[in-house]
Amino acid sequence: MDACEHLKSIFNSVIESGISNFHTSAGWSKLDKVIEFNEPVNAQITDMLKSVELPLKYYSYQGSPHNKPDHGVVCNQCKISLSFPST
Ligand SMILES: [Zn+2]
Repeated sequence: MDACEHLKSIFNSVIESGISNFHTSAGWSKLDKVIEFNEPVNAQITDMLKSVELPLKYYSYQGSPHNKPDHGVVCNQCKISLSFPST
């Protein structure tokens, strides 16, 4: 388990929703670590992501020719994010 204490409950909810396939990557410019899930989250988890409180923050990226669109939650305190493919 690589999520920080702030992201832990969300991480566990994602795993409980049936998404278990993820990998972590490091070396991002503004983050120490990204935990990237391979499947989109359901509506219930999406609501959870969008209603997080500081130091967590919801984000959403449009994507580019080189990057798929994604969304998720970043912990600004620990510089870790949970990332999901956008539907
Ligand atoms: Zn944290």
